Amino acid sequence: ATPVAIMVGTGKGAENGILIKSGEALEVAQSVDTVVMDKTGTITEGRPEVTVIVTADGIAEQQLLSIAAGLEQGSEHPLAEAVMTAAKAKGIAPQAMTDFRALFGRGVEAKADGHAYAAGNAKLMEEKGVDLKAYEAQLAAFADDGCTPLIFAEDDRVIGILAAADVEKATSREAIARFHEMGIEVVMLTGDNARTAEAIRRRMGIEKVIAGVLPENKAAHIKKLQSEGHRVAMIGDGINDAPALAQADLGIAIGAGTDVAIESADAVLMKSDLLDAVSAIRLSKAVLKNIK
Ligand code: ADP
Ligand code: MG
Repeated sequence: ATPVAIMVGTGKGAENGILIKSGEALEVAQSVDTVVMDKTGTITEGRPEVTVIVTADGIAEQQLLSIAAGLEQGSEHPLAEAVMTAAKAKGIAPQAMTDFRALFGRGVEAKADGHAYAAGNAKLMEEKGVDLKAYEAQLAAFADDGCTPLIFAEDDRVIGILAAADVEKATSREAIARFHEMGIEVVMLTGDNARTAEAIRRRMGIEKVIAGVLPENKAAHIKKLQSEGHRVAMIGDGINDAPALAQADLGIAIGAGTDVAIESADAVLMKSDLLDAVSAIRLSKAVLKNIK
């Protein structure tokens, strides 16, 4: 494309809240055949809320929420915020804890009163030797609802489970349908568990899902798609998406996302609306067609 066409194209994008950082990015966009999307904060609002609280035998709800808040107060994860909000709403103060550690892509751990506490997914509980058998049906039911189950353990036993629900953005399903109409394959890439991801996949009409991906492995999945001959756009919002955004042929950040994601991307959706990613690729095709 000529420099003028590129300027017109990026200008048109900007008018519509689509910030395209370079002419090269605009040119690459028209050749994309695969769009990989992060789940939390990209397809969904990224503001999960605790909807169900399950306590283990002998554990009071207040006790569980106090421990949960104590564990999560050091975490910046949206799921941690959901837990803090749930505890606060019931007027429950976090239990004081020491030795806090964030275990990226799995959960958190800390200590109090000679006990080791952990919060996170099933993978983390397996690592900690926590037996989940009695809770399998409950965990599956939460996941089939599209909720993320948060498991809380004291030493090697479960003390409770919270279900966190994160609503899908109003336009996500439509954007995915538009990509399909354009012959573009949509893949959901998430750190969340496979069962929750599958529920969202079905609801959103997505073909393919890659779940349980650790933050450090997201970029490797993009690389693999590229090595199979695909031209890949990645859409994401989180710190853990930044390497994948940089690896993709076209990295698209959600405007409401983290600074690192925005810096790593080639384009930014200022309105955080996935339909604008569809517009960006359409715009690129239009600009390129007018030139030829
Ligand atoms: P996402 O792709 O949803 O951003 P992450 O890689 O941040 O996922 O986390 C993956 C999973 O690890 C979450 O779905 C959750 O089960 C668990 N997890 C991460 N951080 C926390 C936390 N602070 N508390 C509880 N669970 C967590
Ligand atoms: Mg995210």
